[in-house]
Amino acid sequence: MDYRKILSERFGFDDELLKEYEKTKKSIRTSEKDKLVNKLMAIERSNGLTATLLLLYRQQVESGFLLADPTDSANKEFFNIRDDKTGVTFHIQWNPDRELRKNHKLLVERGIIVPVQDTGSLINKDKQGKACYLCWENIRVQNPAEILYPVQLADEEYFLGANFAYLANNHFTLFNKAHRPQLYRKEIIAFLLEFMDKTNGCFRGIFNGLAGASIEHHEHMQVTTEKFPVEDITVSPKAVILNGDRIRISQPDYYTSLILLESSESSVIMKYADAFLTRWHTLNPKHHTENIVAVKHLGRYRLFIFPRDRRKLTGSGKTGAMASFEVSGNIVLSDKTVERTTFDNISLTSIQNMLAGIKPAGSLKQLFP
Ligand SMILES: [Zn+2]
Repeated sequence: MDYRKILSERFGFDDELLKEYEKTKKSIRTSEKDKLVNKLMAIERSNGLTATLLLLYRQQVESGFLLADPTDSANKEFFNIRDDKTGVTFHIQWNPDRELRKNHKLLVERGIIVPVQDTGSLINKDKQGKACYLCWENIRVQNPAEILYPVQLADEEYFLGANFAYLANNHFTLFNKAHRPQLYRKEIIAFLLEFMDKTNGCFRGIFNGLAGASIEHHEHMQVTTEKFPVEDITVSPKAVILNGDRIRISQPDYYTSLILLESSESSVIMKYADAFLTRWHTLNPKHHTENIVAVKHLGRYRLFIFPRDRRKLTGSGKTGAMASFEVSGNIVLSDKTVERTTFDNISLTSIQNMLAGIKPAGSLKQLFP
């Protein structure tokens, strides 16, 4: 898809600005970037947030800000493994491009990051002196090729930025304008559901509490248009815990703990999800956390809550913590030393073991009054 053609033909977008941006992305002036964002905002007003984000994403891919093009499968390998017991078709991907995120020199060459000489302009530094990667003020200085798009969710200011080390197509990080910790609060559910509304369910949203979030000191979520395998999970009648009061709550058969809440009313989902998560955290405040996946399909919200225990973050054969993508059945492997062997030997049993390895102890039924 040539996004420039679409922008100029369909939206009357003057593509001089984009050409200028691609030539000078390492040193583009903030005022030029603001102009570009203003044009995108005009597209949002006439065509909605989804159209705007799809175009912005293509711009970020084609200008080289992403490590590779998610729609280009040349360097990737895929497996689908169907599980009749749960109804889920697990999606396994070998994506070595993702490892490029660890190559600092390449990131600098590509203009994805720039070494900052005058660190005095950076804010919210940690004990090692590293400035927060998700404060927009720092992104403006350290990631000049990244275009941040503003969105308001439940009366708070958020930004969307394409994730250069993507896990799926149209994968953005959605982060708070304010520097505040990555800790569940009930507004998180409101942000996710409102984002589903603003994109008519075209985007899915995820929140990794302290299980798999790589940046723990700045509140953020992730969104993508790619369907999660767990969306196809079978909900048998005996899995249903509550059906009524405008909500269905179930605990479908799966290999790690999962609670599914479904309702066409966001306020009802929020009430039940927050009550459940509050009880889950109270049981063990130090270790209990969560992965949350939100989707909207045909006007109905579906919230997948994976209760997590911080003592069980990694599954066998996977380096790094298992987070929302993995628990939802989308397993992306990229590390040559450990994960390539996992990829070569993947089977339904090894996926079951991976998920079972992070399953928290105890029954969840007690958490429903
Ligand atoms: Zn921050």
